[in-house]
Amino acid sequence: MHAPRHAFNFDNAFVRELPGDSHEGGSPRQVHGALFSRVDPTPVVSPSLIAYSREMAETLGFQDAYVQSPEFAQVFSGNKVLEGMEPYAANYGGHQFGQWAGQLGDGRAITLGEIITERGERWELQLKGAGQTPYSRTADGRAVLRSSIREFLCSEAMHHLGVPTTRALSLVTTGEQVVRDMFYDGNPESEQGAIVCRVAPSFIRFGNFELPASRGDMKLLEALVDFTIARDFPELATLQDVQAKRARWFSEVCERTARMIAHWMRVGFVHGVMNTDNMSILGLTIDYGPYGWIDNFDPNWTPNTTDAQGRRYRFGQQPQIAFWNLTRLASALLPMFSSEEPLQDGLQRYAEAFVANDRANVAAKLGLSECLEEDVELIQTLYGLMLGAEVDMTLFFRSLIEVDIAEPTLEPLQGAFYSENKRAASAPDFLQWLTRYAARVRNDSLSAEQRRSRMRAANPRYVLRNYLAQEAIDKANQGDYSGIEELLDVMRHPYDDQPGREKFAARRPDWARQKAGCSMLSCSS
Ligand code: AMP
Ligand code: MG
Repeated sequence: MHAPRHAFNFDNAFVRELPGDSHEGGSPRQVHGALFSRVDPTPVVSPSLIAYSREMAETLGFQDAYVQSPEFAQVFSGNKVLEGMEPYAANYGGHQFGQWAGQLGDGRAITLGEIITERGERWELQLKGAGQTPYSRTADGRAVLRSSIREFLCSEAMHHLGVPTTRALSLVTTGEQVVRDMFYDGNPESEQGAIVCRVAPSFIRFGNFELPASRGDMKLLEALVDFTIARDFPELATLQDVQAKRARWFSEVCERTARMIAHWMRVGFVHGVMNTDNMSILGLTIDYGPYGWIDNFDPNWTPNTTDAQGRRYRFGQQPQIAFWNLTRLASALLPMFSSEEPLQDGLQRYAEAFVANDRANVAAKLGLSECLEEDVELIQTLYGLMLGAEVDMTLFFRSLIEVDIAEPTLEPLQGAFYSENKRAASAPDFLQWLTRYAARVRNDSLSAEQRRSRMRAANPRYVLRNYLAQEAIDKANQGDYSGIEELLDVMRHPYDDQPGREKFAARRPDWARQKAGCSMLSCSS
């Protein structure tokens, strides 16, 4: 045998520098005084690679031949641990739906290690669905194919859309069945199991800080804060004063969170479970569960069936929820500061940064050189009209590029309406709005071509509409994985018109309106 040897460079700073659990593996339990527990993935029967991200593979320095080799499927299903890997599950807590939930931890995610690429980048490799850990509580540590496809596709789609996000390297089926009660209605079904390898510089969440703080374990909290700053925020290394450094760090977390949320609002992404354990300290979109994409513009829409009553995580409330989550983080960090002031300043920074980013998005979406006070009102009026008339968000903004500014008509926008009646009824209002918009554009300094290219770069033609992902899932459940690759490829260039792929840019079809997986999703995954 002349199988090529693959030596990768691992530098597992998290487990090397921070206190871990003295027990290895073992059954679910409360873990005190430790930020992680070492645990190996549980092997699966017959792993098979069904999709991978070539961009991510390339970034990590994985050659195509290696990705296609049997060893790759073994490693990225958890069947084989490579030399240098030190698998562990992280210990964290979180506020879920507004309530403190205590210890949660990686119940089915296992980090394999931190790989250092030839370019010197650090990437944490993490398997989701790799088996039980001390944090699995009563659950099985596994993931089903449908959710794994959704996480795999959306991670990469968000990346190509320019939204800060964790990434996905690979998607492997396990050859094992997993039982899930998808709608919590007493009808459990057996589904295919799968494992995604997700990748990020760090998977540390707000909840990693909240847990030691909730237990009054200041030593552990401080160790984690200083580790995070040193490893993941190298730009702060020059600050000498510890208090000043921690203050700048919190402010930076706030700013990154604001940037991320503004992007979500720009592209119409709804996370669905913005619990503090699902908030990345790096301001990355993390934990793709019952997320969804806005079809008809509706700030009240939530994709998550568990959230249907309170609608806490609805599209329009995401900026406020992120702020609330940051206040939870601030209160966890408070004992480390001699006064509240630096934390208040950080929270203030969130509010300012969100407004600044949001305004930049308003200007870009409308094709203006800058966002004036009146433009905020202009877009709010538009959103009101879109909500009332059931208008597709993605299609509307993309079509707005085609409106003739000299003589605006509704003609280019026809295809964005879901209801013919509502379109006809709202036409005069939309025409009035377009007239106002056209006048504003004529007063702006951008040339026609500049305006159009600005709009093309801010308003995607393709987003991962819920029904598109569901179609790929339905096919995959029949054993045909081609839909995943095709959708991944469309989402590689979301801002380009891709001739022949118009169907991926179409309005949500009527059949998808109330279909499971398309308009409503559960946490069961
Ligand atoms: P989520 O809502 O997916 O962010 O998960 C919340 C918590 O439940 C985290 O601690 C997860 O690790 C855990 N969890 C979710 N699903 C499973 C599962 N199938 N097995 C073990 N733990 C799980
Ligand atoms: Mg989670």
